[in-house]
Amino acid sequence: MASGFGKIVVGTYVEIKRSDGRIHQAMVTSLNEDNESVTVEWIENGDTKGKEIDLESIFALNPDVAPDEEIAPSPETPPPPTPTCVKVSKIAKNRRTIAPTKSDAPSRDNRAVVSTRARPPQPQQPEPAPPPPSQQPAQPTQAQTQQQLQNEPSYHPLSRKDLGQLSRRKSNCVKEVEKLQEKRERRRLQQQELREKRAQEVDTTIPNYEIMYMIRDFRASLDYRPLTTADLIEEHRICVCVRKRPLNKKELTMKDLDVITIPSKDVVMVHEPKQKVDLTRYLENQTFRFDYAFDDSTTNEMVYRFTARPLVETIFERGMATCFAYGQTGSGKTHTMGGDFSGKNQDCSKGIYALAARDVFLMLKKPNYKKLDLQVYATFFEIYSGKVFDLLNRKAKLRVLEDGKQQVQVVGLQEKEVKCTEDVLKLIEVGNSCRTSGQTSANAHSSRSHAVFQIILRRKGKMHGKFSLIDLAGNERGADTSSADRQTRLEGAEINKSLLALKECIRALGRNKPHTPFRASKLTQVLRDSFIGENSRTCMIATISPGMTSCENTLNTLRYANRVKELTVDPNQVMEGGRPNIHTVNQLDLLDEEWLSSSPQRDDLKLLCEQNEEEVSPQLFTFHEAVSQMVEMEEQVLEDHRAVFQESIRWLEDEKVLLEMTEEVDYDVDSYATQLEQILDQKIDILTELRDKVKSFRSALQEEEQARPRDAAIVRRSL
Ligand code: ADP
Ligand code: MG
Repeated sequence: MASGFGKIVVGTYVEIKRSDGRIHQAMVTSLNEDNESVTVEWIENGDTKGKEIDLESIFALNPDVAPDEEIAPSPETPPPPTPTCVKVSKIAKNRRTIAPTKSDAPSRDNRAVVSTRARPPQPQQPEPAPPPPSQQPAQPTQAQTQQQLQNEPSYHPLSRKDLGQLSRRKSNCVKEVEKLQEKRERRRLQQQELREKRAQEVDTTIPNYEIMYMIRDFRASLDYRPLTTADLIEEHRICVCVRKRPLNKKELTMKDLDVITIPSKDVVMVHEPKQKVDLTRYLENQTFRFDYAFDDSTTNEMVYRFTARPLVETIFERGMATCFAYGQTGSGKTHTMGGDFSGKNQDCSKGIYALAARDVFLMLKKPNYKKLDLQVYATFFEIYSGKVFDLLNRKAKLRVLEDGKQQVQVVGLQEKEVKCTEDVLKLIEVGNSCRTSGQTSANAHSSRSHAVFQIILRRKGKMHGKFSLIDLAGNERGADTSSADRQTRLEGAEINKSLLALKECIRALGRNKPHTPFRASKLTQVLRDSFIGENSRTCMIATISPGMTSCENTLNTLRYANRVKELTVDPNQVMEGGRPNIHTVNQLDLLDEEWLSSSPQRDDLKLLCEQNEEEVSPQLFTFHEAVSQMVEMEEQVLEDHRAVFQESIRWLEDEKVLLEMTEEVDYDVDSYATQLEQILDQKIDILTELRDKVKSFRSALQEEEQARPRDAAIVRRSL
């Protein structure tokens, strides 16, 4: 081309310099002969931008396209950046990998992570691209043109040979470019329409509407096969399931997104929103598999059918059954176990406690069991900060003792006889009101305590079977160990420890391991007899909140639930040697044990931390040790103080008698002095001992303070 436009034609890519100094590529869309300029266009942030630039500036930056005689690059002008690269936007596909097939003894693979990047609606952001092909065609292909238009300006290399060809095929090029322009125009319109359509469909004020689209698109690609009553109820020694609750009013008001999908009877998917360095958002979809997965439309009755109901028979068959609700506060544990709350009142009859009781009474009528002449009893207690409180006896604080046969006893726990479901409902109501009395909200307290409801079958007074139904403390509380407030920290430590211990005890049950670290926490200690024996079965219902704001807690819950079962044993494995050989302790009373020498609790704690090395840092272990020691000492000090107090009353009486004696005219001075000295010696001995204990206790308090983890992240992921 012999014109003043040099080698520029419509469709040529040139470098342009912006007013802010940036240099990038743009496509020439018209040649303006009248003022010796060209019009260029480029795409920026999804919008097409254009500009008119005089030829001189163009040639200065793009000497390659200048007329031959004008190719005289000035020393200051940098050569065009030829290591050019056409950015290729990956059209993200919903790559879906199916999680490994389920087996009765799931492995680590169970936690298959499926990473899916769904396409955000608009604007489309480019992704980092592979290196450019070594040689680009002179004429941009349709895809490339589209790409270059849509992306941030990208460089397009043109060799001298290409340029020569380009000018020879000018007329063809122009035609091609015109076609491309038309197509581009059409595409632009289509995109605009799509954007408008979407804007109508969705409330773009939803903070995460892009994410919502991605989830919606993802869900549309799924094949749903939820659990139905027709599904088989499988026999599991350890059953782990997940229940998702619906979004609640608060979440709906704040327009939180539902990031959980339950596509089938045993799969849970979490769509975790993530952000790339360039701020593009995408979904990371993680898939978990459990024995059962209940979606947000599942009723308590249905959950019960697959979880606790199969365990009712266990207790009639002289076994021990446990059913736990585990999850973050507000995820639906109490709703599942205790029953539906409507307003402030709870409908206990719809909770698993009551449903299990109903079936116990039904079962009792069966001829096989009727002849056993069993009596039914119920207990209801709470474990708060490592202490046991009786909910059927005005929250009396109870002691936990272990006898020489390693039988754990909750001393004084009220066992109420129940004759029918209504009796049980009444007890649950009494217990619930006792549990939350004086509390500003039911959740404020229940988030920090475990509630244990037990149905006990006895035959002529002897234990036949026991069903423990447990509404656990909120697992997020386990991270409170880093709190600056001691009470919160201690509660957190006990929850952290008890949830780890619970996991280990269940895993040990699955593997018929001879030793379970049950002494590491009060919860596992009081449930100890349920974790041993061939005839023990357990079920965990992990409850999860659907909201995006709960995503981190939800993932922690799912990881924990997954670990509970991942190492369970092949059910065919038979237990060798009958009862497990639990290592023995000689002390009858735990409180008599010396912490500083070895103690079973400390050994169990150590074992627990060793078993959970990944989750329990050495720092956390030191802290747990310090807390355990401190709690033990607190119990000892209180115990001793109570004894001293009782003794002091006797001293007072003795001293009173002694003083009265001195009022007589001829009292025995010798005897008075001897007796007073005796009393004082005794007092001094006893008080000195108590004082020394208090001193040690105080230093234990300081140790605990120093050992507390400063970083909540250390502990958060463990539960
Ligand atoms: P948690 O005991 O885990 O702290 P709750 O059982 O108290 O949680 O549940 C928190 C709130 O969510 C309650 O208002 C409860 O009624 C509601 N909720 C929980 N699970 C469900 C469900 N499956 N269906 C409907 N509402 C639920
Ligand atoms: Mg609750």
